[in-house]
Amino acid sequence: MSVDTAAEVAEGFTRLYGSAPDGVWAAPGRVNLIGEHTDYNDGFVMPFALPHTAVAAVSRRDDGVLRLHSADVEGGVVELRVDALEPGSDRGWTAYPAGVVWALRAAGHAVTGADVHLASTVPAGAGLSSSAALEVVVALALNELYGLGLRGWQLARLCQRAENVYVGAPVGIMDQTASACCEAGHALFLDTRDLSQRQIPFDLAAEGMCLLVVDTRVKHSHSEGEYGKRRAGCEKGAALLGVDALRDVPYAELDAALERLGDEEEVRRLVRHVVTEDERVERVVGLLEAGRTRDIGPVLVEGHASLRDDFRISCPELDLVVDTALAAGALGARMTGGGFGGSAIVLVEAADVDGVTKAVREAFAAAGFTEPRVFEAVPAAGARRLV
Ligand code: ADP
Ligand code: MG
Repeated sequence: MSVDTAAEVAEGFTRLYGSAPDGVWAAPGRVNLIGEHTDYNDGFVMPFALPHTAVAAVSRRDDGVLRLHSADVEGGVVELRVDALEPGSDRGWTAYPAGVVWALRAAGHAVTGADVHLASTVPAGAGLSSSAALEVVVALALNELYGLGLRGWQLARLCQRAENVYVGAPVGIMDQTASACCEAGHALFLDTRDLSQRQIPFDLAAEGMCLLVVDTRVKHSHSEGEYGKRRAGCEKGAALLGVDALRDVPYAELDAALERLGDEEEVRRLVRHVVTEDERVERVVGLLEAGRTRDIGPVLVEGHASLRDDFRISCPELDLVVDTALAAGALGARMTGGGFGGSAIVLVEAADVDGVTKAVREAFAAAGFTEPRVFEAVPAAGARRLV
């Protein structure tokens, strides 16, 4: 995010509220390289931060008033009182930043108000986590302005609580942790059970490769209900197998576990996806650390097949991206994010970027789908102060 953008958001703040902000912060969206639907099973994920960020200009207030404004949403400033914030009371965009204030206060931090003006370049609803970017940027600003001294992973937990309880979306911990903790040039190998993490160097340009994000720009309406069903199915699988979470089913014992699930056909599929997906994350980490970056391509493709056939959350648009990209010479491709729309990622030799992009665009046009948005994703920095 350029200094220009920071200055622009600061100017917007000054115009709205009549004085300059105390500071300007940024928090990125993310893509997940591998490890899908593992974060609510205590498993492994491997996101990296996008250059796309939410940028917030914020000033502290000590009179209990919270004022919120987004440059990207029609309508004026929304004014709330911090002691009247009520989970479930807000269905609009302001629930994300207000939820963060609520979560901080509920955890005992004396946050007494703020003025917030923000703008974001993370496309909303594309599976790139615009919501976590919004939460984390506000959490980081308040952490600094109130001198709370919270670490990135602690902010992530509070943001997740804001989204789970205040917004009412049962999301896992990956998105918030990615936004708070990622580092430029690295993917984040994260154990979602204890939030232990390792930064894995991931510099594709240096190796003559590129990772494309293809935003299908569709979001199928049943996605939320289906997400809940998958979560419930995973929990049922863990209960039937007598473990706390599917993370506790060792890959080496998968066949025996599936056997024990007997005729629970759907649960067997969900369990198989989660257990093999955790193994794929570990395999990708091993390959990257061994300098065998090109070899992660087939693992991404395996992950897509598992999401499509076992977890059953792909859709025609996502499958078309993957099939077309591979046919056009990509090293690997898979859907990323929650499913039923959103984005896919494509690992490709730098020399093949144009050809693969063209092939995907043409296939979408031929199928009569909405024109996809395609961009190169370079692992960028996590949340930080700009000004
Ligand atoms: P995702 O996180 O995958 O982008 P979500 O449905 O979780 O999708 O979050 C999208 C929501 O986040 C939007 O509907 C809106 O309420 C909020 N949001 C995202 N970006 C902005 C923004 N720039 N300004 C205001 N609200 C935003
Ligand atoms: Mg989200």
